[in-house]
Amino acid sequence: MAGNEYGGYSYKFVDADLPEKYNCAICTFVARDPQQVICCSHIYCSSCLLKHKQKSGSLFNCPSCREPLDGRYFPDGRIQREIKELRIYCPNDECQWKGIIKDIETHITECPYQSIECTNGCGENLQRMKMETHVSEECLKRIVTCTHCEETGVHEIISTNAHLDVCPFFPIKCTNDECDVISPRNKLSVHKRTCPKSIVTCEYSQCWLF
Ligand SMILES: [Zn+2]
Ligand SMILES: [Zn+2]
Ligand SMILES: [Zn+2]
Ligand SMILES: [Zn+2]
Ligand SMILES: [Zn+2]
Ligand SMILES: [Zn+2]
Repeated sequence: MAGNEYGGYSYKFVDADLPEKYNCAICTFVARDPQQVICCSHIYCSSCLLKHKQKSGSLFNCPSCREPLDGRYFPDGRIQREIKELRIYCPNDECQWKGIIKDIETHITECPYQSIECTNGCGENLQRMKMETHVSEECLKRIVTCTHCEETGVHEIISTNAHLDVCPFFPIKCTNDECDVISPRNKLSVHKRTCPKSIVTCEYSQCWLF
């Protein structure tokens, strides 16, 4: 939330009474990329002016004094510099940062309270200060190692049935009813060959029928 992208700055300003000359006469916020019109010297955000121009078509007149505007305004560098020096609070309420508009973008890239997207790409948004724990301990897409076979991969596969159902070293119980042997999946067939509880069909079992 570095303020709205179009129109003027909607930050909370440290100084309550800012001179009105900084305000865009269209959106009434402190002008972003201010343009001064020659007709009546009002200033407008460049994005507000552009939107106004697109709406007006061939009748592109100054919203304040109705004079034709085509080519009759210029970027106001002096006002721009003054505006960039205005003191604001960080838009993240819990943050104690106070600084000038010029520095807010850099601050936002470091602000511990800024909400950012998980770098593992799990789709979650969290405050920057919580991201380290999330990425290493909570994220479904964090890289983990299977404690049984030591294969590595993302948590949502390796630590769930998606992997455990096929993990060659996952311990499973012998399927013979009275046997309590637990063996890694890939060793179970070896055990079953010698399992004392297995029901073997006598190769002569049908002999006596004859
Ligand atoms: Zn504006
Ligand atoms: Zn005007
Ligand atoms: Zn901040
Ligand atoms: Zn994540
Ligand atoms: Zn495994
Ligand atoms: Zn067994």
